[in-house]
Amino acid sequence: MVDDSIVELIRERYIKIQAQIVDAARIAGRVPESVQLLVVTKKQPVSVIEAAIAADVKIFGENYPEEAVSKQQVLKIGNKVEWHMIGHVQSRKARLVAEHFALLHSLDSLKLARRLDRFAAEFGRKLPVLLEFNVGGEGSKFGWQASDESLWDNFLPDLEALLALENLEVQGLMTMPPFFGDAELARPYFRQLRGLRDYLSVLYPQVKWEQLSMGTSGDFQVAIEEGATIVRVGQAILGSRPV
Ligand SMILES: *Cc1c(COP(=O)(O)O)cnc(C)c1O
Repeated sequence: MVDDSIVELIRERYIKIQAQIVDAARIAGRVPESVQLLVVTKKQPVSVIEAAIAADVKIFGENYPEEAVSKQQVLKIGNKVEWHMIGHVQSRKARLVAEHFALLHSLDSLKLARRLDRFAAEFGRKLPVLLEFNVGGEGSKFGWQASDESLWDNFLPDLEALLALENLEVQGLMTMPPFFGDAELARPYFRQLRGLRDYLSVLYPQVKWEQLSMGTSGDFQVAIEEGATIVRVGQAILGSRPV
């Protein structure tokens, strides 16, 4: 049973965030349709996801492959919604990701890329991926180190090998900047990721590089002003996560 009052609460917040996305896009002179809203459901129970589906949420993001796949299996909703993997993927979970997700946001090593490529081939698909960069330089974050432009050339050999993999389709970049209470402080990091995207577009024009996955509950509007095409919002729509 889906609890109607929870559905209504989620629907209200979802609509409010969508309206804020439209405003942020307009302020930035961008078409609102160029920004997708992904709802982050990590640690949320299946009942909350069911309510979100009833509230018309279309794209879900999960952080842990096993948790995500077991939720997908319980929900049995087929193609009605899209599942994205947004968390760090251990190499031994590559198979699950290659089979069960529409887009991997958090591809963070050549080793993982090679494994995903192999499994994607087994499943007869081309797996869409985004490359994760660590633009804040924090030790706790995953992704290629990109905090300083002088570091950018270091990962080019990895990227070249990765772009040659036939069963992955690189669509853009993703980042998770340092957390601040003030969204404005995240702006330079979003700008850095966009700058990196522009740099890679020149080096590798054969790739589209169209997606920039950046911005969460606290700073998605600033991320949109800086070019985000996918924002990943959890708590502002679903409420706080169970611990
Ligand atoms: C949890 C998480 C989010 C969502 O954060 P909220 O504060 O709930 O909006 C976005 N991206 C990643 C990678 C996350 O792990």
